[in-house]
Amino acid sequence: MYKEFGIDEKIEKLAIEAEEEIKEEFKKVENNCLRNSIKVLEAFQEYKVSDIHFNSTTGYGYGDIGRDTIEKIFAKVLKAEDSLVRNQFISGTHALTVCLFGLLRPGDTMLSISGKPYDTLDSVIGLEENPSSLKAFGIKYDEVNLQEEDFNIPAILEKLKNNKIKLIEIQRSRGYATRRSLTIDKIEKVIKAIKEVDKEVIVMVDNCYGEFVDEKEPIELGADIMVGSLIKNLGGGLAPNGAYIAGRKDLVELCSERLTSPGQGKEVGPSLGINKNFLQGLYMAPSVVASSLKTAIFTAKMMEKLGYKAVPTWSERRSDIVQTIEFGNEKDLVKYVQGIQAGSAIDSNSVPMPWDMPGYTDKVIMAAGAFTMGSSIELSCDAPIRKPYIAFQQGGLTYEYGKLGVLKAIQNMVKSS
Ligand SMILES: *Cc1c(COP(=O)(O)O)cnc(C)c1O
Repeated sequence: MYKEFGIDEKIEKLAIEAEEEIKEEFKKVENNCLRNSIKVLEAFQEYKVSDIHFNSTTGYGYGDIGRDTIEKIFAKVLKAEDSLVRNQFISGTHALTVCLFGLLRPGDTMLSISGKPYDTLDSVIGLEENPSSLKAFGIKYDEVNLQEEDFNIPAILEKLKNNKIKLIEIQRSRGYATRRSLTIDKIEKVIKAIKEVDKEVIVMVDNCYGEFVDEKEPIELGADIMVGSLIKNLGGGLAPNGAYIAGRKDLVELCSERLTSPGQGKEVGPSLGINKNFLQGLYMAPSVVASSLKTAIFTAKMMEKLGYKAVPTWSERRSDIVQTIEFGNEKDLVKYVQGIQAGSAIDSNSVPMPWDMPGYTDKVIMAAGAFTMGSSIELSCDAPIRKPYIAFQQGGLTYEYGKLGVLKAIQNMVKSS
């Protein structure tokens, strides 16, 4: 079967071996998928979803029962009091921006406790000078670095004792950092320690790439509010754009008044035909996340067999869908990423090349043969061209397509060496 797809016998044999060895890990992923599917199905049933919820509004979007029901369902699935699930969010970054501007006021301090946040937040926070940043509005920023890939609890508590902190940010996923993602156990422990010292402080989790990877979500771990993108996990590959914020009702309300306008909040925002995609995307999400995880586990096992370093390793507990592979040289990295593109259904004939992307110091190469532009719940892979030549791979709408993409990438790399 693989031969037809241009995969030679040696790699096929390796793949068969790898799949045999990762069986137990796949079982864990499947159990977790079932648990998350139950959460989703129960929420659909509780709110009696029917085809009236697929209807749409235009203009101001008053009385959009589909939209309002979707927000109840997201809240229920994420164990939150309320949520804001909107196509008016342009991206995960936009939802994080709305959340920070919605909750922070001039003179307040935000504290990041997982080191420097995701790159796109530099201009939002004001780490990169910008006349529209939080800093420009008089909001202060402080951070505590991780220590040995875990929270530095003594340093965090010290900060809380010395200053009034309004909001603490935790980034669960690694983003483009080389650290591991933060597991739910670590997040639960740090939030408990924080709340013992300061019950008032708002704990916000950037949950991008984390949803449905494990059995609990940030609100269940004690967080007050969480944020994520719908062209990642919870969109299930079917949401064409959008993002969500979920958590305490009063906080979600504040965010909604920043997204729309004070006094209008959640009451407005036309769904413009998106409701069915959001509902069906959430319905598919547990299985799509499971496929992404299986693709990542398979990748880690294959690359380890071929002598490359993969983080997380194939058997490690995961907290996001990101897999990194360390190639050690530029040639293998580029060939692999080009192979991921060649193994896609969309734009398989394009050959990605390293280029000088605005805002980045090193050249970057990106493979994204996706139905939705920029979607990274679909198999995608990108890398800055710098030592030690690490690629960040994520997604896979089905395990079979994910596996085929990875095999194509490996074949492309091996063929040229
Ligand atoms: C994807 C992501 C974001 C938001 O990115 P967008 O591309 O703006 O949706 C923020 N934080 C993390 C950790 C992410 O992975």
